[in-house]
Amino acid sequence: MTEVETSPFAVVLGTAQDGGIPHAGCQKDCCESARREPSQVRLPACLGLVDPRSQQRWLLDCTPEFPRQLDRLNQISDPAWGLSGVFLTHAHIGHYTGLIHLGREVMGTRSLPVYAMPRMAQFLAHHEPWKQLVDQDHIRLHHLRADEAVPLADGLEITPLVVPHRDEISETVAFMIQGPDRSVLHLPDIDDWAAWDRSLPDLLPNLDLAWVDGTFFDATELPGGRMASIPHPFLTDSMARFQSLPAELRQKIHFTHLNHSNPAARPDSAERLQVLDAGFGLAEEMAGLEL
Ligand SMILES: [Zn+2]
Ligand SMILES: [Zn+2]
Repeated sequence: MTEVETSPFAVVLGTAQDGGIPHAGCQKDCCESARREPSQVRLPACLGLVDPRSQQRWLLDCTPEFPRQLDRLNQISDPAWGLSGVFLTHAHIGHYTGLIHLGREVMGTRSLPVYAMPRMAQFLAHHEPWKQLVDQDHIRLHHLRADEAVPLADGLEITPLVVPHRDEISETVAFMIQGPDRSVLHLPDIDDWAAWDRSLPDLLPNLDLAWVDGTFFDATELPGGRMASIPHPFLTDSMARFQSLPAELRQKIHFTHLNHSNPAARPDSAERLQVLDAGFGLAEEMAGLEL
C-alpha cells in the first residue's frame, strides 16, 4: 500500500442545503436542469471520514440521501469496513433523518455509535421513530461536549464547536477534525458570523480547509418573508466579511450547504465565478483531502 492509501482522509459527500438539488417541488431551471443532467445533482451537506490504517469510516451528518452517500463512500473505500460512527450537527431534517435507514426495515445496524450534543441526544432518545432505533440498540447514543475532542484513531480526532443557529429542537455544532497532518472544519449551518463566540479568521491559521455555510447567495433569492425565517449569512456578506483576509487564508474557505436557489451552485454561473475570483472556494461533490 502506498502512503496515499494509508493516510486518513475527508471526502465531501454532499454540498447542498437540506433539500438537495434538485429540490422537491421546484420546477424552475435550477432544479429542472439538475434533473436532466446528473453532474448538476447535489446531495445535502455531509462529510465522510475514512481511516484506511484502522479500516474505519465515519459520517458527519446523516442526511435524507444517506443511502446514496453510503454508496459514494463505498465507491472509494471498502464497504466491509462498515461505519464506526455518525456525528450529528443538529436536528434539522437535512442533518439527521437518514438515521431512519439504520433500523430493522433497512440496515438493522447493531449499536452503531451516534455522537450528539445532549439536547440532540435527548431528542433522539425520546421521540419516535428515533427512539425505537435507540431502544432496539440499532444506534447507541454518545454524548458530545462542546470543545471536547473525541479520539477516533491514532492521530485523528474530532471536536464539536457550538454555533448559533435556530435551535428549536437541538443545539447546533460545527466539527473540527484534526488528522496526523491536516485539519478541517465542517460548519454547514450558522445564523450569523457576528453572533458566534469564536471567529473563523482566528481558526483558519490552524485549518487546511473550512467547509462553511453558503446557503443563500444574497437577499433576492426567496420570495419575501421566507428568508427571515431561515437566517443564514448571505454568501455575498460572508465574502465581504472575509475579503480582507490574506489570500492563503481566504482560499481555505469553501462554501457548502448551497440552497437550490443559490446561483453559485450552478456550473459556470457569473455568481460562481464571482466567488472564485474573490479568492474563495466552493465545495465540490466527492472532493477529498488527506488528513
Ligand atoms: Zn442545514
Ligand atoms: Zn430549484
